Amino acid sequence: MARVGIYGGSYNPPHIGHCLAAAEMVRHLELDRLIIMPAATPPHKSLAAGSPTAEERLELCRLSFASIPQARVSDLELRRQGPSYTVDTLRELRELYPEDELFLIMGTDMLLSFDQWRCPEEIAAMATLAVMHREDDEALWEQVRAKAEALSKAMKAKIVLVQNRCVEISSTTVRRLLAMGAPGYLEPSAEKLIRSKGWYLSGADLKNLPFDELKERSLSLHDEKRRAHVVGCSETAQALAEHYGADPDLAARAGILHDITKALGPTEQLHLCEKYGIVLTELQRANPKLLHAKTGAVIAREIFGESDEVCEAIRWHTTGKPQMTLLEKIIYLADYIEPNRDFPGVEALRQAVWEELDKGLYQGLDLSVRILRKQGRIIDPDSLQAWEYYKKYTERSNQL
Ligand code: FE
Ligand code: FE
Repeated sequence: MARVGIYGGSYNPPHIGHCLAAAEMVRHLELDRLIIMPAATPPHKSLAAGSPTAEERLELCRLSFASIPQARVSDLELRRQGPSYTVDTLRELRELYPEDELFLIMGTDMLLSFDQWRCPEEIAAMATLAVMHREDDEALWEQVRAKAEALSKAMKAKIVLVQNRCVEISSTTVRRLLAMGAPGYLEPSAEKLIRSKGWYLSGADLKNLPFDELKERSLSLHDEKRRAHVVGCSETAQALAEHYGADPDLAARAGILHDITKALGPTEQLHLCEKYGIVLTELQRANPKLLHAKTGAVIAREIFGESDEVCEAIRWHTTGKPQMTLLEKIIYLADYIEPNRDFPGVEALRQAVWEELDKGLYQGLDLSVRILRKQGRIIDPDSLQAWEYYKKYTERSNQL
């Protein structure tokens, strides 16, 4: 009797997080065989921009899991017509491997929603549920343990919990990185194929796009909430540019791109800095969350071919700096007051910005510094310098 693991996923694309998890499960469960099962895309769900076909995804899986001798890639779910359910897959596998012990590999979120799956009892009767969990989340671990106990009682499910050094990366992040020309957390052979075919927009020429295309491209990298924010920022920036005599097109472009790398995590931010030679201070290295303005500016230049004016406006949109250009001030403030922003004092700030740009700028800087101080958070030296600079400036203009 062989021990057979089943590891399903959309694998769009498969990345090293999947590979490490797979290797760990083979070792821990002492599997003789591991079936990698790329899922068919439900008809109502469209795949991310630039995704390869099902057949090509299979090839990516073969390349990615090639270093695990027990792994085999199966096209069983991709071949099936209509909606795909785990229970159907297991029925087929049971027939193929009547004598073997099956292990259905899943994440913690899947175990927690297991009762809502189609025919959970039948699944539990056919396979042991092998749940991967990260070791550092105590509260979740408790929840998972309780759920496992409940399921064992209710449907005699056999459940093994496996601590797994999961790499904290999702296929969504990998696609974002690929579209930005950054290292993609992929097995080298899979990455080579993806880049040679230009999948996930990895090879697309995104330089000097017309605004509508730039907007579409930018929005595809964000979740819904941030989409509303970047559109709000872009429209506000354009209106401010018209009001104060800056170039409205450049303002709209800088606005739509200003948070282009915001969705990336700390590790990816640091990767981008390394790739594009951004030199970091100790403070910045320790707080990679603050880096999206710098990485965003580099991506705007390198990937989107934007002008220096636009890139500099993105570069300074979180901190500000002394002697800002008109466009830099506009993006800093548009980010601050766009219609989705809602915090105490935003109305007064909006009014100041439309009355006199520098007055608004100082109020914005002052508000940021005060909030950060109150919260005991680190204040970037650039923000402090900007605050000092514009304080003097407003004092001087008051005296005139
Ligand atoms: Fe930002
Ligand atoms: Fe923003």
